[in-house]
Amino acid sequence: MSDHRILTGRVVIATHNAGKLVEMRELLAPFGVEAVSAGELGLPEPDETGTMFSENAAIKALAAARASGLPAFADDSGLCVNALDGAPGLFSARWAGPTKDFSGAIARIAAELDKRGATTRRAHFVSALVIAWPDGHTETFEGRVFGELVAPRGTSGFGYDPMFLPDGHDRTFGEISSEEKHGVDWETGEALSHRARAFVILARSCLRRP
Ligand code: IMP
Repeated sequence: MSDHRILTGRVVIATHNAGKLVEMRELLAPFGVEAVSAGELGLPEPDETGTMFSENAAIKALAAARASGLPAFADDSGLCVNALDGAPGLFSARWAGPTKDFSGAIARIAAELDKRGATTRRAHFVSALVIAWPDGHTETFEGRVFGELVAPRGTSGFGYDPMFLPDGHDRTFGEISSEEKHGVDWETGEALSHRARAFVILARSCLRRP
């Protein structure tokens, strides 16, 4: 028997990031939960003061659950570059600045790698997904995807997608559809993106198909 709490009914997606919102809605769609975003409810964005992705995801999910009285679902994620000692990591959104200029953030990563004379372009994305309930209960799941950083290609996705070439693939996350990026096979439980990998474990633990 599962020790996890099952999510049913309405859920708040605790993000103000449009790219993540699209992906989370797509992932939740088959499970009969009605998803409303923190932006639509006018919920404030809490400060992300944690030192781990899972801590920041819990801060966002708990704040939205308490403010709305509904279960809330949050992702905290980022790109960790080996030759930059894991940067931008937790600060991935902040590297794009207040105007959310990701072409600038992508250029900054390339410039930092050049400055350090980096001999490896290895990197991985991390996603921590947390569901929080208004009573303070939380469920936490994590996924990663490893790959290489390349000159940016493609216009789909968001954030650092155009510069990330996942291992075993010849197109960047910026060159594939969001469905291919999720890459979920519900039969085998395999998935491609960090968020989809975390989501498959979450779904098996906390969601039921209608
Ligand atoms: P936060 O989790 O809201 O702090 O922001 C995470 C940041 O990491 C996003 O703004 C993106 O810059 C980056 N990021 C996270 N997941 C992805 C992804 O799937 N593709 C591209 N960039 C991502």
